[in-house]
Amino acid sequence: MTNKELGRKQGTVSPCAACKLLRRRCAQNCIFAPYFPADEPQKFASVHRVFGASNVNKMLQKEI
Ligand SMILES: [Zn+2]
Repeated sequence: MTNKELGRKQGTVSPCAACKLLRRRCAQNCIFAPYFPADEPQKFASVHRVFGASNVNKMLQKEI
């Protein structure tokens, strides 16, 4: 079991890479978390740089 999974169980979730960069509150069912885990900040940073935060947000919200 990874530290991240342990954190979720204990309710002390460190924000995912997306929420960290966007300074959002990272919910437990955050739509970004599966795509941009906290341990891969550079992944979201590059997507964010190419598409922009609002576009990334729109793209992911369509999937719900
Ligand atoms: Zn998040």
